[in-house]
Amino acid sequence: MTPTSKTAIYPGSFNPFTLGHLSIVERGLKVFDKIVVAVGCNECKSRRGDDFSGRVESIRRVFEDEPRVEVITYSGLTADEAVRLGACAILRGVRSVADFETERQMADVNRDLCGIDTYILCSLPEYGFLSGSMVRELEHFGADVSKYLPKEKTK
Ligand code: ADP
Repeated sequence: MTPTSKTAIYPGSFNPFTLGHLSIVERGLKVFDKIVVAVGCNECKSRRGDDFSGRVESIRRVFEDEPRVEVITYSGLTADEAVRLGACAILRGVRSVADFETERQMADVNRDLCGIDTYILCSLPEYGFLSGSMVRELEHFGADVSKYLPKEKTK
């Protein structure tokens, strides 16, 4: 990456990383030179049965052929991580008005903390209902969730 290249951090829990998340990264790559998918682990240690490192590894496999995407873990403030990475933007997605209110608040806080703006993409209509929590719940009750996840995830 050159000093002028544009890196965005895409922070989230990605539990699991869905096709909705993937579409945000793919669309973000049209604008940014590099996207760092930053998997937050603030709560991971307290959640029983949560395979955090397995989740991170499966996201890395999704992007193993895409050198412009890096997958990292972080704890602490997203604003601090964005500064550490030299990111020019924080990337996020919204599915609904409810999402938007939360995202706007976080965007305001992060801009206040580190001066970095958040770029929010609207979800594709076909992924507007898709969330990590919904996939986890369906999985819990034995549903086949593979159609909501990137192909590599089901290897
Ligand atoms: P968090 O726990 O920080 O909300 P998530 O992993 O749930 O992290 O989501 C990360 C980001 O991706 C958030 O901005 C969220 O709104 C967005 N996102 C989640 N699912 C979708 C989807 N189906 N389409 C578009 N954006 C999504």
